[in-house]
Amino acid sequence: MKETAIYIHIPFCDHKCIYCDFYSIISYDNISSYLNSLKKEIDFYSAKYSAERKIISVFFGGGTPSFMEPYYISEILQYIKKKFSVNENTEITLETNPGTVSLKKLEEFKKIGINRISVGIQSFNEDELKFLTRIHNSQTAIQTVLDSAAVGFENISVDLIFNLPGQTKEKWEKNLNQAVALPIKHISAYSLILEKGTILNKMVIDGKVKMQNEDYDADLYEFTIDFLTQHGFEQYEVSNFAKNGYECIHNNAYWRYKDYLSFGTSAHSFVNGKRWWNYSALNFYNAAIESKGNAVIGEEILSVKEKLNEYVMLALRSKGLDLIELKKYFGEDWLMKNKNYLNQLEQEKFLIKKNEMIKFTPKGYAVCDEILTKFSS
Ligand code: SF4
Repeated sequence: MKETAIYIHIPFCDHKCIYCDFYSIISYDNISSYLNSLKKEIDFYSAKYSAERKIISVFFGGGTPSFMEPYYISEILQYIKKKFSVNENTEITLETNPGTVSLKKLEEFKKIGINRISVGIQSFNEDELKFLTRIHNSQTAIQTVLDSAAVGFENISVDLIFNLPGQTKEKWEKNLNQAVALPIKHISAYSLILEKGTILNKMVIDGKVKMQNEDYDADLYEFTIDFLTQHGFEQYEVSNFAKNGYECIHNNAYWRYKDYLSFGTSAHSFVNGKRWWNYSALNFYNAAIESKGNAVIGEEILSVKEKLNEYVMLALRSKGLDLIELKKYFGEDWLMKNKNYLNQLEQEKFLIKKNEMIKFTPKGYAVCDEILTKFSS
């Protein structure tokens, strides 16, 4: 059975946050037609791919999936379970925004089969939350995590953003201290990225907001790695940290180059070396599903060289590059070509090599994008 992850995109949101460039819709008129389309899309791909596949994770992302009523998420989940091989060990995550769930709603999400909650907190500082235009305050965020634990969720993750304009190291440390004091097993800590087309980008162009510089960003990042490691969260990817046994199975599927099937607007899939992606706009997505059962707007079949580059990049950004596996899949060429550069990185303590694995050090993670561009393929 081939291990496969499933992602479902729920594009609906309460409002648009200033930094967000995800496809999201601030209207609920189309919720039922979207559900019908999702089911048809699941039909289309399950007919092609469900045999011989074991589903290791189902991830409801968005958008704001927790804005949906539990029966809505349940209907999608039941449909997936009907069409694919999902068992009691499958990780089933719901991205959850503070301010969208009560204790009762969380209880219902638990009952319908969600077993992992990923809470988009971003900050515990009231000024930072206002700046990010989040709909919740710090207390609501804390309460959402406590309520999730109270109804029996054991696997809880939180998302935080650092390097916000004007954020001092002390403020960031306070955020981290608050996070590790909560009953959580996983933290995703991202640096604020300025994406084109966002409200924040316009604010920066208009001179209303000043972003912090890259050196400060790297400084906060290395501080984050040290802090979280000392508090029992092991780094297993550039931005992700987990207590022992709680790495996100869904994330790992992406980073370990496993197949994933994704449903919904703007969803990207990767199966048997082929990648495809859907229409982003809801009306185009619905119309395409109606007429042909899928909503693919683009696709690519990766060449061996592209596969090799992605494989190396994903492995190094996460748990490390297994040299035995690399040789098995791609031969020795890449290692021969990059031998000198790898030695240099090891000497300068950007990489460590142990038991046929090479892995970034915290210093290497901080500049990994730059390092990755310098490998020859
Ligand atoms: S809630 Fe999340 S997906 Fe929706 S606009 Fe804000 S950041 Fe984007």
